[in-house]
Formats: sequence, structure tokens, C-alpha cells
Amino acid sequence: MTAEKLLGDIIVFRDAVLEEIRNAESLGALEELRASAIGRARGRLNDFKKHLPGLPAADKPPFGQRFNAVKVELESAIDARHAELSASAPAPAALDLSMPARRQWRGAKHPVTIVMEEIEVIFRDLGFTIATGPEAEHEWYNFGALNFPPDHPAMDMHDTLYLERGGLLRTHTSPVQIRTLQSYPPPIRIIAPGNVFRRDFFDASHAPMFAQIEGMAVDEGISFVDLKATLANFANRFFGETKTRFRPSFFPFTEPSAEMDVSCRICNGAGCATCKQTGWVEILGCGMMHPSVLEAAGLNAQRYSGWAFGMGPGRMALQRFGIPDIRIEYDSDISFLEQFAQ
Ligand SMILES: [Zn+2]
Repeated sequence: MTAEKLLGDIIVFRDAVLEEIRNAESLGALEELRASAIGRARGRLNDFKKHLPGLPAADKPPFGQRFNAVKVELESAIDARHAELSASAPAPAALDLSMPARRQWRGAKHPVTIVMEEIEVIFRDLGFTIATGPEAEHEWYNFGALNFPPDHPAMDMHDTLYLERGGLLRTHTSPVQIRTLQSYPPPIRIIAPGNVFRRDFFDASHAPMFAQIEGMAVDEGISFVDLKATLANFANRFFGETKTRFRPSFFPFTEPSAEMDVSCRICNGAGCATCKQTGWVEILGCGMMHPSVLEAAGLNAQRYSGWAFGMGPGRMALQRFGIPDIRIEYDSDISFLEQFAQ
């Protein structure tokens, strides 16, 4: 390429870039242009330098001068356009010092978790150990070992979610009792907290998945007196000074069986909508463990006896915190949950 042609091309390039600079409508576009036209790394202007070694010695100085002059001209044109665009850009908004600071996020435990932890603390003080087990269970652990005869209507009551090959989602935490009895010799005192599953629709007081806490004590000479004393002690600690009563009930895995009520905290036993005008609120089911359950777990029922109870921390949270509808506990509504921040 001749020096004359090269000097002409560089002027054509300069004019094209000057046109692009005039047309740049934003600082971002202008800076992109600066990089692509005269940038050290990928500026198109540098392409002209590649021809320098091939030029006759006499033509090198005029080319170098032209090259530098164009570079300086383009730089100052870009700077000028930059100043122009900066001047017309909207000024940043003034600081509004009266704007409230962003609130700090305060984490909160879920009300059901709070209730479960309180229950666990009380029973640990009474010498109970926390035990857990699988949520997907064998039918035998969920029903068979717990003295549910095959096709017993009590199994309908539980409306089970069955899995393939005889498995199911546990309908109560009672399988943990059997697993514990199989693994450890008496004396045993455990509570088993965990999630359980039923084929219930969501309504104000039912959910297809909910937390349960069961407890069990097994040893020689354990009687209903121990059961009543332990649960009355628990109720007084959990609810504050309260009256309790036991009503006969039925569960396949306990005999005799009972429901325990506490006097309604909202009306102090006078009767209100929450306690359906009875003055009492049911909080748990309990009873002496059926000898068949002890035998199924491999214990000698002649030698050992025990009792068990089960309660729903979700419903207890309704009572404790005055929550009107159990579905609120599942909503993950921040404005509800943050009320429990400590
Ligand atoms: Zn009441």
C-alpha cells in the first residue's frame, strides 16, 4: 500500500469516527466508541500502524505525524461530546434525609416450632429423651405393631396416604415407639416429635400434614398414676396453673385409653365459642400401652408395662397464641410470622 493511499484512508476513517461521535446519544455508547475506535486493545485506528514497517523510510515520519494528529483529534472530539452528554444528563436526585431507614429483618421461629420446643424442654426436665424416626414407614410399624387388626375401621379414621409396595406416610409418630422398644431395653422414657400425614382436606382445624409429639414411658411397675401425674405436671407448666380431666376414649394401641382436657384458658372454664361452651379444651390422647404392642416390640408384657400419649402442637399453638384458623400456620405469611420474633 502506498503512503499516499494510507494517508487518504486515515482521513476517511477519521471523518467516519467523527460522525459516529456526533451521533452517540449516551455516555455508554460514547465510551464503547472510544474503545472500538482509538482504544489500546481493539481500537480500529491501530490497524493503520500495521502498514508502517512496509513503508519507505522517507514516508514514515509524515505517516507517524498524521496518525498521532488523528488520534489526538478523535480523543478531544470524544471528550467534548462526553462533556456535552454529561451536561444534559439529569442531575442525581438530592438526598432525602427524611426517608425512613430500611427496617432490620428480624427472624422468627414458627409458632408450631415454639410450642414444640417448649414441650420438649418440659419433658426433658422430666427425664425424657427425644427420639425420631422415618416419615415413610412400613405398614407394620404404623398399624400392625400397634394392635390395629387388618381392615379395622380405626385405619379408615387415619385416612392413610399409601406408597408403593406396602409403604405409607406415617399417620402418627407411634412407629417411633416400636422402633425404640426394639432398640433399647427398658426403662425407657421418650418423646417423639415429627411430621405426620393424613388424607385430610385443609379446613379450619385439619391439614394433610401436621406435627405431632408422642411420649412413652416403659418400665416395670408403670401405672396410670404415673401417666396422670406426668401429664398434669406438663399441663401446669405449659398452660400455667390449670385444671385437667381425663375422659375415657378408645385407641387400638392403649387400654384403658383416655383424652385429657385442660380448662379453657380463654373463658377460665365458664364456656365460650373456642371451647364450644364446655369450659374444657381437649389437648391429647393417652393410655396404658396395650400388652399386644409391648409383645409386638419384643417385650415381656407380664414383666413390663407402660403408657403413651400423643398431642398436636399445631392445635396447641392455636390455643396458646389465639390463632383462629390452622391454615394460617401453613401460609408462610411474613406479617403473621414476624409477630413471633423474639
Ligand atoms: Zn372457653
